Amino acid sequence: MADFYDVHTHFFNLSHPDFFSFVNRLNIAEYLFIMSIPLIGPIITTILYASKKKNIINTLSFMDSDISDSLKIIEEKDILPLFEKGFNIEATNYDRNIIIPLVLDFGQKYTQIDNEIWYNTTPHKSVKYQVIDLFQGIAEFYKEKIEKRILIFPFLGINPKNYNLENEYDENGNIKTIGIKSLLDKYFKNFAKEKRKELLIKKMGKFKDIESLGSYAFCGIKLYPPLGFDPWPEDDKEREKVEYIYTYCQKKSIPITTHIGIGGFQTVDNKTCEKLASPERWTNVVKKFPELKINLAHLKQKDLNFMKGILKLIVEQKNIYTDLAYSGFNKKEYEEIDKKIKKFSTSDSYKIYERILYGSDFSISLLKSPSYSSQLKIFANSKAFLNKKYLLVNQNPEKFLFD
Ligand SMILES: [Zn+2]
Repeated sequence: MADFYDVHTHFFNLSHPDFFSFVNRLNIAEYLFIMSIPLIGPIITTILYASKKKNIINTLSFMDSDISDSLKIIEEKDILPLFEKGFNIEATNYDRNIIIPLVLDFGQKYTQIDNEIWYNTTPHKSVKYQVIDLFQGIAEFYKEKIEKRILIFPFLGINPKNYNLENEYDENGNIKTIGIKSLLDKYFKNFAKEKRKELLIKKMGKFKDIESLGSYAFCGIKLYPPLGFDPWPEDDKEREKVEYIYTYCQKKSIPITTHIGIGGFQTVDNKTCEKLASPERWTNVVKKFPELKINLAHLKQKDLNFMKGILKLIVEQKNIYTDLAYSGFNKKEYEEIDKKIKKFSTSDSYKIYERILYGSDFSISLLKSPSYSSQLKIFANSKAFLNKKYLLVNQNPEKFLFD
């Protein structure tokens, strides 16, 4: 029996993302009206809207639940039916589903958005409350029974722009705002290279309050350029912060997942996003921190240059990974990705297969897929990645997370 890893998921409820980027992400601005107004128009648009509307309602109905309920729902409807008797993929039986929820730091500082309105600043959503809700949800989920088919190892979302390097103190000497150094120490100071998986499992579901949430709560770090994170900023002060994170993660072998590509929850404009969320933006990081484990997420890209950029870095550097998040909504999509990898020389394509991680992007993926289990089944039955699926769902993720 083996563990099936899904390294790229999101479990948040509707209160966590800021509303503007959420509406943009779901592309629902127009639907907010369509849901209440009967649609008159060409039949084809009507059908298109109807099926899109179904996906959106499916997504919203899932995300409107508490995190513990979301976990219970997928356990009952998706995970148990697949994994209870062993999920068979290419002669391997998987009896546990390990999911990695990626926390996104929506905690951007206030900026002015519109002078025409009175409350004219961008919403500020502290990542702290998302973390509390996530761990409370996980604890609630494990309360009833400990022997579960789902294991949950979250990644902490950090946007260095929202922090200083050092703590700020008030006049009484209490921490007013936590700095990057303390934040990393809080969650990763005792994060050893050995027995990491064991200790993560041991800590799973145990949550009292955020103050006592220490090492082994998270198993990696999530960075997210569409919300303004710059992997290699020009500004000295900003550079110092990101380099501190890279040095720390490299030393402690903490894996980083970063979003590649335009879209997602995006608060910067497209042109800025194209720059910050490109694989090229990581060239200097990779050069200076060759041992740093980075997952350049979303191998499938609309912009083929981005996909080429990801694959180029993988071939050149041994610690660069990528994942399949938000792709594979039909069999063809996986086959197309596989075809592109096969164009490389045998040795290079092998390097690539050893660095691809399975990721679903669930629950965001509900925008294009009816359920978690349907996504897993499409992957399992795909002709792509033939005889390499064990690498993608088990071997590579274990290396990325724990090696
Ligand atoms: Zn994602």
